Amino acid sequence: MQKVLVTGASVGIGRETAVLFAKQGAQVVINYNSSEAEAGETLRMVEAAGGKGYLAKADVSDDSAASALIHEAVRLMDGLNVLVNNAGITRFIPFDDLDAVTSDDWDILYKTNVESIFFCCREAAKVMPEGSCIINLASISGILPRGSSIPYSVSKAAIIHLTKCLANVFSPKIRVNSVSPGVIQNTRWNAGNANFNLEKYQSGTNAIPMKRLGNPSDIASAILYLASDQASYITGVNLPVEGGMSVK
Ligand code: NDP
Repeated sequence: MQKVLVTGASVGIGRETAVLFAKQGAQVVINYNSSEAEAGETLRMVEAAGGKGYLAKADVSDDSAASALIHEAVRLMDGLNVLVNNAGITRFIPFDDLDAVTSDDWDILYKTNVESIFFCCREAAKVMPEGSCIINLASISGILPRGSSIPYSVSKAAIIHLTKCLANVFSPKIRVNSVSPGVIQNTRWNAGNANFNLEKYQSGTNAIPMKRLGNPSDIASAILYLASDQASYITGVNLPVEGGMSVK
């Protein structure tokens, strides 16, 4: 049975991933940081989908909190064999407005998006059995120099490289891969972006060859594939799930 920890599962892609694992009969630990009520809703959805769910509050950008979260997940599920490092944040700053980027922007994005994954993976590798896997959420922004801000884009590029480093270190015991979403609707993400123009993406844009925005379920499906036996010979890869944006 899959024993899954999804970080940042209170809303969005993390929630969808938790629910899709639950539909396959998995046990799922739903990590959140500040959105307790939303995490409770994810738990209800996981249970309605037939899975066994648990809530675990932790700020994964904090080394000791991330380590404690891994051990809490092991305690709750009596093991851990899938870790999905999904928690992430951004700051919306136009790429050409360099003066608007502060040291704090660099620090918080690097800590939350990159260091959190390192901390969780380091501890998880000590307790995960042979055949386990880790999936990290990167972004199309880590492949192409665009997205919500330069610090975000760079943090996501770092995740792609961190994934390769850890895949190398953890092989053959644990597979480590990343997924890079394109523009995903129906998450809390773009609510923080005053300039986000949904219509621009929905109508006539040629930036997305598939001519539609992504949904959290598109990303969750890719994560479940990488966690499955069908992907048992895949490690160290970054899988773009972005309707073809990176080939445009
Ligand atoms: P949302 O903003 O909808 O959700 C983010 C989640 O991360 C929340 O559950 C939040 O929990 C959690 N989180 C943030 N900081 C922390 C922290 N320090 N500790 C624990 N949890 C934390 O994001 P999405 O679902 O849209 O995105 C999920 C992932 O996918 C992110 O890594 C993002 O970078 C990536 N992505 C998203 C894209 C999109 O278009 N939506 C595109 C490309 C990549 P809480 O509220 O409880 O703090």
